[in-house]
Amino acid sequence: MTYVVGGGCCSDASCVAVCPVNCIHPSPGEPDFGQTDGVFIDPQVCIDCGACAEACPVDAISPLDQLAADDHRIAANATFYTDNPDRRSDGGLASWGPPSFDAWTAAALPMKVAIVGAGPAGLYAARELLLRSTAEINLLDKLPHVGGLARYGVAPDHPDTRQIVGVLERVARHPRIHLRLGVEFGRDVDHAQLADSHDAVVYALGAPESRLTGMPGEDEAGSCSASDFVAWYNGHPRIDTCPVDLRGPRAVVVGNGNVAIDIARLLLSDPERLARAELGPAVRHALTAGEIREVVLLGRRGPDVAAYSESEFREIVGLPGVTTVVADAPGVGKAIEAGTGRAGLLTGVRREAVDLSADPLPGRRLVLRFGAAPQRWHDGTLDVSDGQPIRAGMLISAIGFHSPPVPGLPYSDGRIPQADGRVVGMTNTYVTGWLRRGSSGGLGHNRLCAEETVTALLSDASSRIALPVV
Ligand code: SF4
Repeated sequence: MTYVVGGGCCSDASCVAVCPVNCIHPSPGEPDFGQTDGVFIDPQVCIDCGACAEACPVDAISPLDQLAADDHRIAANATFYTDNPDRRSDGGLASWGPPSFDAWTAAALPMKVAIVGAGPAGLYAARELLLRSTAEINLLDKLPHVGGLARYGVAPDHPDTRQIVGVLERVARHPRIHLRLGVEFGRDVDHAQLADSHDAVVYALGAPESRLTGMPGEDEAGSCSASDFVAWYNGHPRIDTCPVDLRGPRAVVVGNGNVAIDIARLLLSDPERLARAELGPAVRHALTAGEIREVVLLGRRGPDVAAYSESEFREIVGLPGVTTVVADAPGVGKAIEAGTGRAGLLTGVRREAVDLSADPLPGRRLVLRFGAAPQRWHDGTLDVSDGQPIRAGMLISAIGFHSPPVPGLPYSDGRIPQADGRVVGMTNTYVTGWLRRGSSGGLGHNRLCAEETVTALLSDASSRIALPVV
């Protein structure tokens, strides 16, 4: 029997490190790592040891016999290896290369490191430092809890993925971590103060703000950013969310990434499904009593380049009581028939002409509309580039996130200029996570990012030590 990586894989790749027969790919260092929907297990090579399932922080791996025979995840794991036969291991015991002691001198140094941001990026960096040095770590965050995006960004109906919060909290409880919660960088402390009192400062502030479309009316009533909407349903303690109005009957979500899908899925879930989600009472009541019965996902480009993952897509089209249709438009049918990229997922989904300027039909419905850019929001109407307006009670922009500038640090194009995690033009100053690489990749990608940043930090610390002459 084989194990299978299912939906919700966070690409943390802890499983890759423990597999004794090297049958989990893409692995860190392979060119498509981070480009696929997580990692896959080769069913022909897996020896059923279960080590990967133990290591997975989000419980995304299960034995084959715990899945239904037609579960698409079984085929997805196998297909990866038929499409990429070069990844198939020979089933012999994996070799892990020689141990590296590149930063060994820093490991025993009495270092003090400040990490700004106690979300996944900051906590993965803290874990790396704990594992590879004796550093004492001051971990700062403006929020009253650690976890950042893992706590306040993961959808409340994905409890498995939310388990990563527990993993990160364990890091934060380590005796060499000194938590400074409720401390806001830029208001309560600045870079000069941190640099003066620490050997190194690591910035891990994430990308907390939504990208906006910039169209006229985006700040008018009924329009909300994805970061505000997600903050609302996840009970974020510090963000003043936009007024959420679920009177319906239609909402339009601009974007077709996983956050857009999360929002659409929650809006279309029936009360029974919402009852199982980890929601606060007020949000649960609002969603249950809300009147939205149709959600339009508006993609500016074609279905082949839709940004949602396969598992997120399959979950939403499988919602009980929800019909999914693709709005017919020039080029859309051809792209679906060609089946390239994400368009292949739409084979078999009904395609029809839809009139989104009229009230929606009875019943709950997801409408996927491609190749149409939002142009103006006014009086409950979204003007769209293809000339067919959408009437909606609520507009949510979910086209990605960005990091605002960090006082005292260089800034370019929504991130901190850096090399291997070292902030350009500064000494003993490092960056990790979305603030370093932009808002791409899931929670687990922060692990590798932190590894690189901490390697640079320890290597710099080592080079500052004058070795005794013997
Ligand atoms: Fe590798 Fe064991 Fe997981 Fe199979 S069950 S993928 S052999 S770690």
